Amino acid sequence: MSKIRVLSEQLSNRIAAGEVIERPASVVKELVENSIDAGATRISVMIEKAGQKLIAVSDNGSGMDADDALLCLEPHATGKIHNEDDIDHISTLGFRGEALPSIASVSRFSLRTRLHDAGEGTEVIVNGGKAVHAKPVGCAPGTEIQVRDLFFNTPARRKFMRSISTEERQIQEMMYQLSLPYPEIAFELTVDGNRIFSSPGAPMLESRITAFFGKNFMSSMLPLEFVNDEVRIDGFIAMHGFTRNSRREQRTFVNGRAVESFGLYRGIREGYGGMVEVGRFPPVILFLTIDPYEVDVNVHPAKREVRFRHEYKLSAFIAEAIREALRRSPAPTVNIDPAISLHALLESSEVNYEIPTREQSIMDFARVEEPEAYEYSVVPSPRRETPEEEKPEIIVSGVPEEPPLGEPILPGSGKINILGFLDRSYLLATADNGLLVIDQHAAHERVLFERLLKDAGRGGAAQKLLLPITLELSRAEAGFITKNGAIFEKLGFDIAPLSSNTVMLSTVPPGIRQENIGGVIRDMLSELMDDATTGRNELDVIARCACKAAVKAHDYLTLEEARGLIAQMAQCELPFSCPHGRPTIINISITELEKRFGRR
Ligand code: ADP
Ligand code: MG
Repeated sequence: MSKIRVLSEQLSNRIAAGEVIERPASVVKELVENSIDAGATRISVMIEKAGQKLIAVSDNGSGMDADDALLCLEPHATGKIHNEDDIDHISTLGFRGEALPSIASVSRFSLRTRLHDAGEGTEVIVNGGKAVHAKPVGCAPGTEIQVRDLFFNTPARRKFMRSISTEERQIQEMMYQLSLPYPEIAFELTVDGNRIFSSPGAPMLESRITAFFGKNFMSSMLPLEFVNDEVRIDGFIAMHGFTRNSRREQRTFVNGRAVESFGLYRGIREGYGGMVEVGRFPPVILFLTIDPYEVDVNVHPAKREVRFRHEYKLSAFIAEAIREALRRSPAPTVNIDPAISLHALLESSEVNYEIPTREQSIMDFARVEEPEAYEYSVVPSPRRETPEEEKPEIIVSGVPEEPPLGEPILPGSGKINILGFLDRSYLLATADNGLLVIDQHAAHERVLFERLLKDAGRGGAAQKLLLPITLELSRAEAGFITKNGAIFEKLGFDIAPLSSNTVMLSTVPPGIRQENIGGVIRDMLSELMDDATTGRNELDVIARCACKAAVKAHDYLTLEEARGLIAQMAQCELPFSCPHGRPTIINISITELEKRFGRR
């Protein structure tokens, strides 16, 4: 007798359920997706005992007639695709027609649904996959589905349930995820009778993100909008320096669906260029709209992953969109810590300007035009009594207009006025809208980093070492250099193998110091050969390591050099952070100062 049997429909539904319905949150996902697909503008979800006792989802969407109310519980019954062609152009969240029969096979399931123009609705009740009844019923237009005692007939699955609080958290998270791309739909979640959230339908994406992620989060995000013939990208991205230690807050949505895709993550990382250290992740919330033909959503049972026909192109668009948004963004502003006791500081303070001589300086900045005469307004030390008539006169010549929102304060501005230096590490300057504190080391790194990459793009610039340096490396490192010599050379490092574990360095990029160059090369190698960085742009990695060694803290800068530094930063693509992700400039805005001085 043959051993192979075709499974009963009931059993095959339960098997499908194992793939699609992992936990209560997956039921919430499937049902809410159906409501969204049905064009609902109001969706409410009610759960009891983390969804194990009850999950009820009601919507004001299209509803179904009596025939469809029965059909929708058949496996592979879907109103969303009809033929093979449609599967290449999926514009709905669902398409497989397996969610409802799967859910109904592992729960006590009831469906009430009514078309908007129908006099009455239909009720269907199914128990563990067995139909109990279907009958006409009076109900509101739209659909309400109740799922009780989930997994009551699959004890193995029930055992996998985590604690109530974990499952509840998953459901809540799922609701955020589902509702983020649809700010115009009102969502509501009630847990054991308590309204957990209620998000009215409003076209403002920003308010929905703020509701979920908090005001603080939102205040560190920049808006992003990018459109071309192939894609539209909207959303918010982290400002310079705002990163997390996981990808949790990198949310990407494609055509209204939350997706995880390495292609998209790669685009994000590239967009931030060298601004983010390995292991750190800038939060982003991005909504991509693309031709459904460009994306295959039929690759993951829970439809979390997708495949793109032109993944690299999409990555590049994301990177471009992010770069553009960052370029437009103003320098990060700070709130001054009010807890600092300035009193003790003032007691001992003296005004002292230290103007280094040219010889003391070792940074090599191009001279920029004719420097203006610098005027110092010296504030007398608070301890010294100043006679009334000697007090410096303060002339307020009208508050300059704040630059229009989104206008960069640095690039292209000639309005920066250098005040002096602090701790030989910080450059103080005024800009239209406040006080700039520039970390000269970080700023110099950014300038060099971009110059290195620019030069590499043009075929590289190199400076010959007086005496070539021989470096002893591990065999693996030396082998790596032998294989990848061309990349190093592009950036101006001419490194040739001498033996199986020694190499000879004969040129370095201009502006790179020669002291400890061996250490720099070793740093580059360890980053390049680290698995965590595989797939990252090698040029980027090398340039980042090289510029790290370019300046030391506490180097003297002359005023001309300071001006040169600012002028060069103004030419940078991403001037506000160093290649390792730290800020280069902090802007203490006039508004902030006004707050501190009680004027606001
Ligand atoms: P899919 O969403 O993949 O089509 P489902 O099993 O989730 O499969 O749903 C089957 C069908 O039932 C849907 O295609 C749709 O026509 C109908 N349906 C499900 N939920 C709703 C709803 N809330 N409102 C209107 N129609 C619905
Ligand atoms: Mg569905």
